[in-house]
Amino acid sequence: MKIIVLKFGGTSVGTLDRIVKISKIIISYIKKKYKVIVVTSAMSGVTNELIKKAGKISKNFPNSERDVLLSTGEQMASALIAGKLCDLGFNSRSWMSWQIPIITKGNYSSARIIKIGTDQLKRYLKKGGTPIITGFQGLNKESRLTTLERGGSDASAIMLAKFFKAKRCIIYTDVDGVYTTDPNLTKKAKKIKALSYEEMLEMSSLGAKVMQPASIQDAKLNKVKIDVKSSFTNKAGTQIIGRKKIKDTNIIRGVSFTKNDAKISLLGVKDKPGVAAAIFEPLYKNSINVDMVVQNISSDGKETDLTFTIKSDDLLKTKKLISRNKKIKFKKLIVDKNVSKVSIVGVGMITTPGVTYRMFQALANKKINILVISTSEIKISVLIKSKNLKKSVELLHKEFNLNK
Ligand code: ADP
Ligand code: ASP
Ligand code: MG
Repeated sequence: MKIIVLKFGGTSVGTLDRIVKISKIIISYIKKKYKVIVVTSAMSGVTNELIKKAGKISKNFPNSERDVLLSTGEQMASALIAGKLCDLGFNSRSWMSWQIPIITKGNYSSARIIKIGTDQLKRYLKKGGTPIITGFQGLNKESRLTTLERGGSDASAIMLAKFFKAKRCIIYTDVDGVYTTDPNLTKKAKKIKALSYEEMLEMSSLGAKVMQPASIQDAKLNKVKIDVKSSFTNKAGTQIIGRKKIKDTNIIRGVSFTKNDAKISLLGVKDKPGVAAAIFEPLYKNSINVDMVVQNISSDGKETDLTFTIKSDDLLKTKKLISRNKKIKFKKLIVDKNVSKVSIVGVGMITTPGVTYRMFQALANKKINILVISTSEIKISVLIKSKNLKKSVELLHKEFNLNK
């Protein structure tokens, strides 16, 4: 069977008109003799509305019920698409993740797909049916519904492509590919023809929402070929493939950024072995992700300053945990919510010296102060004041020849 997985994101199924349009895209593949597996997100805005409802009705809404609630968004979209395909004369039906089943492990709201049953769906595909599967969700070993992290329909599509050995997985979204930076931030952004899994993983982990990071890990591990395309135009998109097949020689492939960071500085922390661990232990136990960290070397060996970043949504909780922490002593806690992280990404960095210098010099030339730095083999991130975000992205984009 020539199987293809098509995933439609929130905007692509955002209105009934859009659902009619994407039904036609699905039909175009059926006509090309593909067995089509469709994965849908919730209509845009629906998941956020459901999250708000849970928050309004209870401050302690159970995580398990939150996942049941959120999964309804995808259920609605899948029925609408299947209904429209039937209306157009095609054999189609919706499949909830538990009916397949799509098995997940891990916590509610951040589960990962580990297995997908293929028997029923294969029979259905053979008979000429087109299944419309709810993305973003699965079933755990207690037979309860789970959801994947936000944007997780991408992961559903990629894992379906793996388990059904699909020729490709096409991610239909509201931009016509992966760009050198968010095309909604600057017109200078250019579409990238092909990107390695590693580069896409870094770009998305560092803020390029176009693909969910966990989905790219899954794709890399299982060698799933991905195309990212627009459901609004019929232009060629971006391929996400193995590193060896990439021909582009640019050192830096993209500039990513985040807008929802907060910086916390603890000044005058009593310095002794284990102090950093004592600060971060309660954060880790409360699932608060600490991102960038700098600890200043104390001049007298008695006191130190420690700065780190977290997601701004975690700020209140973090402040509480730190003030209640009896294992640490410090003089002052300073919070800055108006910070953003800008990162440059490219595998070429591994073999090219001077990239860090060029990045810092380009920012310095425009008097943009770097607050915190972090690096890995294929990325460099800096924390800056949010007011400098657009300017920084544009100047780094230019510095590393991405404007061409
Ligand atoms: P979907 O609902 O289809 O899953 P998302 O909103 O999750 O779509 O992702 C698409 C969005 O990702 C675009 O509208 C764009 O603003 C954003 N984005 C961020 N960085 C990039 C990038 N480098 N290339 C393309 N899009 C990006
Ligand atoms: N509807 C979910 C979300 O908004 C999953 C997805 O869109 O991929 O995060
Ligand atoms: Mg998405």
